[in-house]
Amino acid sequence: MNEPSEVCRQVLDRLSDYLDGELAPEAAAEVQRHLQMCISCLAFAQALRRTIDRCRHYRPEARPRPLSPSSRAQLLRAWQTALAGRRNSNRQCGEGYCAEDTTR
Ligand SMILES: [Zn+2]
Repeated sequence: MNEPSEVCRQVLDRLSDYLDGELAPEAAAEVQRHLQMCISCLAFAQALRRTIDRCRHYRPEARPRPLSPSSRAQLLRAWQTALAGRRNSNRQCGEGYCAEDTTR
C-alpha cells in the first residue's frame, strides 16, 4: 500500500461530505476520479460507506420495558434516602450529587 499522498489526504477530508452527497458537483467529481485511481482511498470509502449505512439502519432489538411499580417505589425510596442523607451531611463528594461519605 502506498503512503497516502497530499491528494489522498484532501480526498479523505471530504469523503464524508462526498458520501452524504453534500459536495459541490465539481468537488464530488474530483473525489470520484481519485477513488477510481486509488485503491487505498477506495477501500476506505467503501468501509466508511458500510459503517454509515449500518448506523443509519441500526435499530435496537427492543426498548427496555417500563419499570414495574415495585421497582419504581424502590427507586423512589433510594432517591429520597439519598436526598435526606445529603441534607444531613456536611461532607459531600466534589460534584455535590453524592450523599455517601467519600472520605472512606
Ligand atoms: Zn488516495
